[in-house]
Amino acid sequence: MLNDIQEVLYSEEQIREKVKELGEQLTKDFEGRNPLVICILKGAFIFMSDLVKEIKVPLEIDFMAVSSYGQSTQSSGVVKIIKDLDVSVEGRDVLIVEDIIDSGLTLSYLIDVLEHRNATSVTVVTLFDKPARRTVDLQPHYKGYTLPDEFVVGYGLDYAEKYRNLPFIGILKPEVYS
Ligand code: 5GP
Ligand code: MG
Ligand code: MG
Repeated sequence: MLNDIQEVLYSEEQIREKVKELGEQLTKDFEGRNPLVICILKGAFIFMSDLVKEIKVPLEIDFMAVSSYGQSTQSSGVVKIIKDLDVSVEGRDVLIVEDIIDSGLTLSYLIDVLEHRNATSVTVVTLFDKPARRTVDLQPHYKGYTLPDEFVVGYGLDYAEKYRNLPFIGILKPEVYS
């Protein structure tokens, strides 16, 4: 598994520090509120579980699974809800937790859906951002690291469902997927 990695971009240690910082900021900004924190499966599952431990306000969590990629490394542009939320977002301050924003298609679709369901506010936190690849106008409110235009895996992110369990984020060798 480690043989398939070309380069480690951020170590487990660095990610832990960054997640802590994001949690501190979110704690301040959500003080006095009771956000519904939504994990976008599967990629954000590790980030979500580390992040909520650092957000020191009362909160609730829920999960949503969407698909747009399949086995490919590029967004198909078609977003499908595979698993919907268990609870209503009406009147809630929603915090969407994403692993990475690439084209932005997945998130802009989700934000639309949640706003139509009358969430009071929709805030986005992503651990990673690849702004160079954006095809829609979308800026996350909070982000961890800006990444180069490379396909990355680890810390929850997969290629063909593999590598999610790597504790760091790294670039996959192109020969693995080409
Ligand atoms: P977008 O709709 O912004 O193009 O892509 C959103 C989703 O595609 C992300 O939440 C993530 O699950 C997946 N994705 C985007 N870029 C990468 C990447 O570099 N590596 C991996 N493993 N998944 C990615
Ligand atoms: Mg994702
Ligand atoms: Mg994936």
